[in-house]
Amino acid sequence: MNFYFEASEVLNRLDAKEGSIKGILATLPENNRSRTAALVIETLKYKSVLSDVIQASKLLTEERKKINSLNLALVLVHDTLLANGIQAGDGPIKQAILRHKTRLKSELQRIKIKRGVKSDLELAQTSDDRAAKIPRYVRVNTSTWSTEEAILFYTKRGFQLQGPFASSKGFGIDEHIPDLLAFNPALQFRDDPSYKTGKIILQDKASCFSAFVLSPPCNDPNAVVIDATAAPGNKTSHLSALMGNKGKLYAFEKDKRRFSTLKMMLAKAACRNVEAINVDFLTVDPSHPKYSLVTHILLDPSCSGSGIVNRLDYLLEDETEMVEEDRLNKLAVFQLMMIKHAMKFPYVQKIVYSTCSIHATENEHVISHALQSDEAKRSHFKLAPRNDVLPTWNRRGQPEEMKGTGDADSLVRCCPGEDGTNGFFVSCFIREHNSVLPQTESSKKRKGEIEEVAPEKRKKKRKKKVKTE
Ligand code: SAM
Repeated sequence: MNFYFEASEVLNRLDAKEGSIKGILATLPENNRSRTAALVIETLKYKSVLSDVIQASKLLTEERKKINSLNLALVLVHDTLLANGIQAGDGPIKQAILRHKTRLKSELQRIKIKRGVKSDLELAQTSDDRAAKIPRYVRVNTSTWSTEEAILFYTKRGFQLQGPFASSKGFGIDEHIPDLLAFNPALQFRDDPSYKTGKIILQDKASCFSAFVLSPPCNDPNAVVIDATAAPGNKTSHLSALMGNKGKLYAFEKDKRRFSTLKMMLAKAACRNVEAINVDFLTVDPSHPKYSLVTHILLDPSCSGSGIVNRLDYLLEDETEMVEEDRLNKLAVFQLMMIKHAMKFPYVQKIVYSTCSIHATENEHVISHALQSDEAKRSHFKLAPRNDVLPTWNRRGQPEEMKGTGDADSLVRCCPGEDGTNGFFVSCFIREHNSVLPQTESSKKRKGEIEEVAPEKRKKKRKKKVKTE
């Protein structure tokens, strides 16, 4: 039973605002920490529903001599109803809960019926309050069916094209991103057959900006594109669909476990033009014949995730500003390295860098440093003008954070809860005209002539071309 006392004590300390979950958990003995953390986080996800069940069942009033705290009841009822039962030997506390088990179960069932949900999972609160203002976005995977077919499919199932907030059955067509539908935030699609078969991708609107802004060549058999940081693969499958499943899309992912998820997701989404590779993008040789003809690169590297409000991850955020600042600075160093590496690919014309962070350290500051880097100067990279980067999106970069290095109007920001999206940042670097990729080389490449030239000769040939420009 000590395990439950420990978990309920963490909840007490959270209620008393003694620190963040991460900070409080760090004070627990290491041997039990991960088990306690899991129970605490799961209990928090279901806290509102579990509290209602406990109140309706009168557990605390009838058993107040045995269970004298709501938080202890919460963790015990969590395991009784939503896990594999209380993991402790028989004793008066466990007996008290078991006496009420039938009542607790029927109260849970009653709440499920009232809320119109089938699974326990749908009762979880996975977000903070701002999430209620973010529609449940569904990207139609155009590699498997069309948006018209998807709309017909959902209207036949009782949904109405009246906007996501009109009712629980309302949905809308997004005004910025093609093939993106917006449903009511309370809806879950995890059990939906169209999700299970890869016909829809559950992807926040802002997260769709990256591939859309990169706008890779469509239906071009000679296109070569890189997604440098791919797992779990939402943006990879978006790129693949935008490319019409043609050409070549190299998807790099350095983490082995996440790479398996990526492979699974790409197979499910019917991405036929993607080659997933389990390596660190920073070790990829830009002059390697396989990659040297890449023209478009998507960089969506690891970030603090501070813009995500419809997941409970924020509960695990670091508590002190010092730790946070240190972490952000480390992330920014890595993010800048990734951009500079992408700029080394000899034919790359467009690089989109995005994060789901709201911090200028990972956004405008990284862009500002990248614009001043030797790599940008050598390869003539600048920010694409607003006209090429979602011009009708009103929230732009923060000028005061750019330190005079580039136009913040070229950048896109999304504010969690205010823009109907999670927090997000998008930037797009383009190579200035007449720099490295001359039109003639480009057209030769499209015709496949370059493929026949040996890499060595190709290098010399390219140098000569550049000189004559
Ligand atoms: N773009 C993905 C999507 O929309 O589904 C999300 C990408 S996630 C923010 C960043 C990913 O980059 C993580 O899976 C991380 O393991 C991977 N990563 C981080 N550093 C990397 C590197 N140097 N090379 C390749 N992958 C990297």
